[in-house]
Amino acid sequence: MLLPNILLTGTPGVGKTTLGKELASRSGLKYINVGDLAREGQLYDGYDEEYDCPILDEDRVVDELENHMREGGVVADYHGCDFFPERWFHIVFVLTTDNSVLYKRLETRGYNEKKLKDNIQCEIFQVLYEEALASYKEEIVHQLPSNTPEDLEDNVNQILKWIEQWVKDHSS
Ligand code: ADP
Ligand code: MG
Repeated sequence: MLLPNILLTGTPGVGKTTLGKELASRSGLKYINVGDLAREGQLYDGYDEEYDCPILDEDRVVDELENHMREGGVVADYHGCDFFPERWFHIVFVLTTDNSVLYKRLETRGYNEKKLKDNIQCEIFQVLYEEALASYKEEIVHQLPSNTPEDLEDNVNQILKWIEQWVKDHSS
């Protein structure tokens, strides 16, 4: 059976991993955390001293993911989206969280002041939404609120319905 590839993106802390894992367990799609994949394969190309994090080797990440994407049925999770081939994804969800809620989540993660401030700014300026709109057709990019457990449940149900419809439309 042909299955769609779904991209979950958004600022760190908005709930991509939580939604992605829940969605995968309830749909049978395969969850791929791109950050974890890069770490496991050490798919890095240098180190960013200012942000104190490794720099992704985007070409190697794309090579690593190509076979999975060609097969279909992937839920991909990453706080970036402009280096993935556009053809990979059938739909893109950009999760968004209110500032005060996001601030608390990132504080709990132990982010330092600079990292906290940068990520909140990233959310305020809708950086990932703009990146998604610049990288994919507007009609496949959707924003989803991700503040409460009720939002999570709504988002899972909405995406499950979308998958069901996509499968119907692509069978026969
Ligand atoms: P991301 O993968 O985008 O960095 P996570 O999925 O790790 O974000 O979520 C960050 C934190 O926020 C976790 O503690 C998670 O339990 C919580 N969280 C995620 N989504 C929601 C939601 N819809 N409502 C309440 N808390 C959430
Ligand atoms: Mg995550």
